[in-house]
Amino acid sequence: MNFYSLNKKAPNVSFKDAVIKGIAPDKGLYFPESITPLPQSFFEDIETLSNEEIAFTAIHQFVRTDIPDDELRKIIKNVLDFDFPVVEIEDNVATLELFHGPTMAFKDVGARFMAQCLGYFSESTSNEVTVLVATSGDTGGAVANGFLGVDGVKVVILYPSGKVSDIQERQLTTLGRNITALEVDGTFDDCQKMVKTAFLDDVLLQKMQLTSANSINVARWLPQLFYFLFAYKQLKAKGQELVFSVPSGNFGNICAGMVAQRLGMPVKHFVAATNVNDTVPEFMQTGEYNPKPSSATISNAMDVGDPSNFIRIRHLHNDDFEVLKANLSSYPFTDEETKKAMLHIYKTSQYIADPHGAVGYLGVQEYRKHHPETYGVFLETAHPVKFLDVVEETIGHTLELPPQIEKVMDREKKSIKIKQYEELKNYLIARQ
Ligand SMILES: *Cc1c(COP(=O)(O)O)cnc(C)c1O
Repeated sequence: MNFYSLNKKAPNVSFKDAVIKGIAPDKGLYFPESITPLPQSFFEDIETLSNEEIAFTAIHQFVRTDIPDDELRKIIKNVLDFDFPVVEIEDNVATLELFHGPTMAFKDVGARFMAQCLGYFSESTSNEVTVLVATSGDTGGAVANGFLGVDGVKVVILYPSGKVSDIQERQLTTLGRNITALEVDGTFDDCQKMVKTAFLDDVLLQKMQLTSANSINVARWLPQLFYFLFAYKQLKAKGQELVFSVPSGNFGNICAGMVAQRLGMPVKHFVAATNVNDTVPEFMQTGEYNPKPSSATISNAMDVGDPSNFIRIRHLHNDDFEVLKANLSSYPFTDEETKKAMLHIYKTSQYIADPHGAVGYLGVQEYRKHHPETYGVFLETAHPVKFLDVVEETIGHTLELPPQIEKVMDREKKSIKIKQYEELKNYLIARQ
């Protein structure tokens, strides 16, 4: 299948080229030319299918011209080697736990899928690809882990010195091999600015194939649709209408859920739950899109003032505000409300939610006030241990470190300190 640029000023490209380029030459996001619904029998029998079969069937149409079936099966097997349980925490409210992967963040699936695709594509060319990514925390760990040891791909991660948690820093800086961590004396915005500058630097672009590993890349964005199908598989027997509440930052995850819906999965409604970075909730109220600088919150993976994937969501709904409104509600929540929700969930259900999951929970509650007949599922996007300090302080209880985290805690940190863009550029050229 081909992918077109949402800016409509660049040629259509194959899945392979969309993955390698990341973003179209006209700076538009790539979007699949068509989304063909799956046969009804797929949804009727979904509980008899393995997660691997579900994933293969769901993503096949988007990638099949570029990845042979047996290769796609191999990729999916490698990507999906952990569980995605639905846990009911109250009557008619459940959480879909997406944190059982190697770095305990939901980004593991997308990062691994993209890494495996790039690895496969690099087998047929001699050109090495360099993945350049700025992280405020979770993306870096998932990308580092997903790309570790993938031939033909080098990964360079920029992170702000002293501004990621200890666990997150170890996940980024202790792997070695084809992964390099650059520790930037500055903020996350400085890191992101350097990455953006690199993507526009002709001298660099002539010397190397650079791509990004955030959710603008179709290979990181699309596989997230699996989650929603895995939840449906587990909840179908309830026979109730499902509502998904997705804690959202760049809106890639929720947009993938809407692709699952387009494939024919029964969903009544989506809720995009945000922290005080409320560009989308405001848009859903007023119809006006006003991006703003981001504010720091305790759910920091969602501190985004201009969500990159929202344009895909609008496009999926034909840029028709009324059509979108019928399928999506969006509510913002403060840190105070989020902490209160964490404590409430812990007290009433003995369940420990991380701040992002708690925002999702609040989204379900808000929607179900007006639609009590629905069954609400919120996505738990990170293990609470990734946000140890705020979780322990809020619920007044210490958390145990899971084995995936324990493993990195005594490894040696290796990073290269940089301050300015020129240092990044020199580093990239020198390692050619
Ligand atoms: C990235 C991230 C999100 C936001 O996902 P988007 O697809 O960008 O909306 C939410 N929670 C956690 C823990 C994340 O790492």
